[in-house]
Amino acid sequence: MSVSDELFAEALKVMPGGVSSPVRAYRSVGGTPRFVKRALGSHIVDVDDKRYVDLVCSWGPMIAGHAHPEVVAAVQQAVADSTSFGAPSEVELRLAQAVVARMGGAIDKVRFTCSGTEAVMTAARLARGITKRPLLVKFVGCYHGHSDSFLVAAGSGVASLGLPDSPGVPKEVAGDTVALPYGRIDLVEELFAERGDQVAAIVTEGVPANMGVIVPPEGFNRRLHDIAHAHGALLIQDEVLTGFRLSPTGAWGLQGAKEGWTPDLFTFGKVIGGGMPLAAVGGSAQLMDYLAPEGPVYQAGTLSGNPAACAAGLATLALMDDAAYSRLDATADRVSAMADEALESAGVPHRINKVSNLFSVFLTDAPVTDFASASKQDTKAFSRFFHAALDAGLWLAPSGFEAWFCSTALDDDDLEVIDAGLHKAAQAAAQ
Ligand code: PLP
Repeated sequence: MSVSDELFAEALKVMPGGVSSPVRAYRSVGGTPRFVKRALGSHIVDVDDKRYVDLVCSWGPMIAGHAHPEVVAAVQQAVADSTSFGAPSEVELRLAQAVVARMGGAIDKVRFTCSGTEAVMTAARLARGITKRPLLVKFVGCYHGHSDSFLVAAGSGVASLGLPDSPGVPKEVAGDTVALPYGRIDLVEELFAERGDQVAAIVTEGVPANMGVIVPPEGFNRRLHDIAHAHGALLIQDEVLTGFRLSPTGAWGLQGAKEGWTPDLFTFGKVIGGGMPLAAVGGSAQLMDYLAPEGPVYQAGTLSGNPAACAAGLATLALMDDAAYSRLDATADRVSAMADEALESAGVPHRINKVSNLFSVFLTDAPVTDFASASKQDTKAFSRFFHAALDAGLWLAPSGFEAWFCSTALDDDDLEVIDAGLHKAAQAAAQ
């Protein structure tokens, strides 16, 4: 019995499913989750002292690798002055300025929260408060955190575990969220033609990545923006996962910034907290000033804008200059090409969806464009692929409905391990 097995058996007694977040439990791939004791750079070390090359990056935040000396120093300095003040601090201001500056005029102000869930929940409340309308429009398979309004046809762990919409979400609340198949602008138009005057906001992932990565159809997000505006609704672009990862200005940098449109509200998380609990809502001063205490829409948090979290985020953003993004993109190109080649040579049907440095490997022979097509992947083959990769020292997300995350810490030695591991994984998937 491994130390992970022993700890998991103990954890099951005091934590539902033995975990603090469902997808960590390996339910969709089977087996016992590895307990991690340390991570440094591109490597994770489990409690049995096995080392893995990390392609999950804590589900996105660890873009510059684990325990980067500059992030560690910033956090150490911050916590030496206390872990929380419950009052404004300079580091919080500096992070707000850095986020606003990096978004190049797309936003004027941010409100920090402790999680992406809270950020999207806040953006939705803002949109409803501003428009005085009830409805939210989302897309099937997109994940926007686990608040009541968004546990409707959600992606990520909800998709991996094959859960229907969660018990505990009142039907009155769920009824105010309309979920449409991703990419179907005709259905969005139809909905707005019928109920456009009731819609507060369309909420979408800039690039969907929680049913695996889906490449948005050309012009799709722009059309969402235009349709929302034509009907007095807002567009909320959820960039919790893609923000400051897909480009220095996230998914928006690849789309709206080039096409000349801007979502009304953004949500950010993951990268901007550098691995600490931190996320944000951002938008124009006009919209953001509806938030209390400036405006009437209430939102608050004991630990919001936590100084250690802001220090980690600020240090992480500082590391992500243009050269870092180029390196990240080049690494992701290589890793995705390796996965493609390994699966091809093992004769495993697969599709790789990729947008800049974010990609997913779907074990299916048909194009994956939405949740329905993502669900056609061979999950049994993926389980074999995942476990063989784990044995070979690759830390992959334990679900085929997730993105693969690269970090700037991956080096040529890691890429060799990845290449060898992916070949073993592909052979296992082929059996
Ligand atoms: N929105 C998106 C696009 C996400 O990917 C996630 C988490 O994966 C969330 C919101 C929720 O963020 P958190 O897990 O920090 O609550």
